Amino acid sequence: EITKTGWNLDNSYARLPELFFKSLTPNLVHAPRLVIFNSQLATSLGLNAQELISDDGIAILAGNRTPEGSLPLAQAYAGHQFGNFTMLGDGRAMLFGEQITPHDERVDIQLKGSGRTPYSRGGDGRAGLGPMLREYIISEAMHALGIPTTRSLAVVTTGEAIKRETELPGAIMTRVADSHLRVGTFEYAANWGTKADLRLLADYALQRHFPEIDNVPDRYLSLLQEVIKRQAKLIAQWQLVGFIHGVMNTDNMTISGETIDYGPCAFMDIYDPKTVFSSIDVQGRYSYGNQPGIAGWNLARFAETLLPLLHENKEQALELAQNAISEFPDLYRSKWLEGMRAKLGLFNEETEDASLIDDLLQMMQTYRADYTNTFLALTFDTPEDFVLFGTPEFVQWHELWQARLGRQNESKDSSLQMMRNSNPAVIPRNHRVEAALEAAVNQGDYRVVEQLLHVLSNPYAHSPEQADYTKLPAKSTQPYQTFCGT
Ligand code: AMP
Ligand code: MG
Ligand code: MG
Repeated sequence: EITKTGWNLDNSYARLPELFFKSLTPNLVHAPRLVIFNSQLATSLGLNAQELISDDGIAILAGNRTPEGSLPLAQAYAGHQFGNFTMLGDGRAMLFGEQITPHDERVDIQLKGSGRTPYSRGGDGRAGLGPMLREYIISEAMHALGIPTTRSLAVVTTGEAIKRETELPGAIMTRVADSHLRVGTFEYAANWGTKADLRLLADYALQRHFPEIDNVPDRYLSLLQEVIKRQAKLIAQWQLVGFIHGVMNTDNMTISGETIDYGPCAFMDIYDPKTVFSSIDVQGRYSYGNQPGIAGWNLARFAETLLPLLHENKEQALELAQNAISEFPDLYRSKWLEGMRAKLGLFNEETEDASLIDDLLQMMQTYRADYTNTFLALTFDTPEDFVLFGTPEFVQWHELWQARLGRQNESKDSSLQMMRNSNPAVIPRNHRVEAALEAAVNQGDYRVVEQLLHVLSNPYAHSPEQADYTKLPAKSTQPYQTFCGT
């Protein structure tokens, strides 16, 4: 029953065996205050934005009250963290349930930072304002870039301080996701559940994300293949915009193919496959250049969990899984090439395209050129104001590229149009994100965040107001660093 608040929750996840979750009751916070709210998203979910920003609504966004129809819970999952398998679960999240939208879509509504759960281990279950705003900004930017991602509905401050290295203002974010099923959810089922539990989870994932293959004879193999396809496409999209996730543990890889968990992520500036921003990733396991390989590794862990469902004969199950996994590199590579061709205005395919692209990337690395701005300069055919211009390599490359453009039927204008739609003018640049967070967290001034969100909401607009956001920061001696778990 839809009420005037617009909540229309179902709780299909709570109908899975109890192994998969723990019910929660609200952890009250002292003085909730709404600091940022996504009214467009609220409306598209069928929620009444006015109601949601009233005191009663804010109490829900703070976890002090639960919405009608909610069965709040923490989800169980496991995961390989930096390669090591461990039990995890929602240690600081609370799933309200699944909102059924006016378009009959089903999305999870989850609070993050809402307090301790049975899976909190040593943690306090809380989150800091800076990191929650950061997730809000970057996930909304990813959405605007056309990349599948969890969304951000709101951030409230709790009026309570949390203890980290220093005291930070506490905050709670409301996250919206196609689901929170992870590779780690399947690892949990495979390790701590029965085969029946595993089958129920796989059936649930099929119904929820792949209804079109729910009835095919090899449905579990199809599930594996479809997840591999979605992840190949997702990771290609990350690479194409220079997004570095930072903590690609298997618990942070979704079955739906959405980007999830914006802890230590950041966008690459200077092109270098070795780029790492996360302070804890000392080995560079999750560097930019490693992301496709790590995705393949994570998907192999997913495939292993499905073995009992793939075939009764163990060897045959293994062969099916291995065949599916072996498709990943080519699936990824073809999505990436397709995207790179669009970034360079190429409509058709030539064998030499790969080396044309590689040569450009190699130049960027040699001359420490900004990844986003290099493509931007090419898009506007104004190569004079960027790092590569005038270098002998670029002069030669530019000639080859122009000749290549000349060998297709489409006009130069249509190439430039495609390039404008494929090369963002603005990305959430690290120094801009930091400046916005600084103003919000330290000054209580949210105008910088709002303006940044506004500019990021249409990254392919190439409008004059965006020009300032394409600028690079002043040279700094300190490399940019990101952190998880705050
Ligand atoms: P992440 O690195 O963000 O993927 O988090 C890994 C695990 O740590 C997840 O199970 C989180 O729920 C848990 N976790 C992170 N921060 C906290 C916290 N402050 N309190 C309790 N659990 C946490
Ligand atoms: Mg996580
Ligand atoms: Mg996290």
